[in-house]
Amino acid sequence: MSNKPSIQILPEELCNKIAAGEVVERPSSVVKELLENALDAGATEIVIELGGGGKTLIRITDNGCGMNHQDALLCFERHATSKIRKDDDLFALSTLGFRGEALASIASVSRMRLKTCNSLDGLGQHIQIEGGRIKKVERLGLPVGTIVEVKNLFFNLPARKKFLRKDQTELGHAADVVSKLALARPDVSFRLLHQDRLMLDLRHEKALPERLAALLGRSLLRDMLPVDQAMDETLRLSGLISRPDLNRSATSHIYTFINGRYIRDRVVQHAIMEGYRHLLMKGRYPVVALFLTLDPALVDVNVHPTKHEVRFREQGVVHDFIATTLQQVLKPSSWISQSQSNH
Ligand code: ADP
Ligand code: MG
Repeated sequence: MSNKPSIQILPEELCNKIAAGEVVERPSSVVKELLENALDAGATEIVIELGGGGKTLIRITDNGCGMNHQDALLCFERHATSKIRKDDDLFALSTLGFRGEALASIASVSRMRLKTCNSLDGLGQHIQIEGGRIKKVERLGLPVGTIVEVKNLFFNLPARKKFLRKDQTELGHAADVVSKLALARPDVSFRLLHQDRLMLDLRHEKALPERLAALLGRSLLRDMLPVDQAMDETLRLSGLISRPDLNRSATSHIYTFINGRYIRDRVVQHAIMEGYRHLLMKGRYPVVALFLTLDPALVDVNVHPTKHEVRFREQGVVHDFIATTLQQVLKPSSWISQSQSNH
């Protein structure tokens, strides 16, 4: 047996494909990452165009700040980000992104085009990249903002591609991601098109109740109660929750956001159900869109690459605050009197 060293540092391209395995599960994961980038860039109007449920085409156009020539080339590098600089920034996050991995990962498993222009560069840039390799770079006149186009997702990862579902199923996942981000940011206009057909048009609903109504049905609003409670300057809960008689058989209409980020957290979910204790039958769940705002130093979002989970520094305090706030709002006296004054 030879005693030559057998450990090797993996090539960059392979590292990106491995990272893509964690972040890019299906077209909707690409939609999520690109939408988060558009929001972090300060976009107020975002258009999402899909083909084949996102399997053949994902194109996201934003009117955010755009990138200059150097940044446009750097953004495809792994761990390249404009959002954090040092350790401490991880505990004071004000952006949705910070890992600097999404574009590198997506580019390594697709054919991608980036068109972007900022307000200071005279010219914009158009970059084509395939399987992580830059194929073409040109400068051209473009409006300020960014267009990212992702074609043939997983063209070079056939094993992954096989797991993708029917167009309609993938479209459903992508629409779900758009809905969650659109709820998180009612101030931003979103449009979703599939094969040139308009699927979601959220250009005019600029407040949470209207957004929720546009996504889940107008009649629903009658049965929603407002929540707005602050424990102190560091902890606040706001949004809308359903009266107990409006309920669902699954948790899919429980939308929870922490510091503007859609999160599915066990502690938060448990606290919500605690708030509805004795008000719902077993196996029934409320309709909820709740926003928890807290000091970024008290919550760690760097738990999983998809950032769907968090860890609270003071889990018990957050749990009890949510549960008691909901119990208060759901006290029959508070909503019955409201409903009477509504009619
Ligand atoms: P992260 O979002 O974690 O920083 P990404 O790989 O998603 O990492 O993006 C890398 C960088 O590219 C971002 O930090 C940002 O500077 C830039 N970028 C990406 N998308 C956009 C966009 N739509 N508009 C402006 N800048 C963008
Ligand atoms: Mg990002």
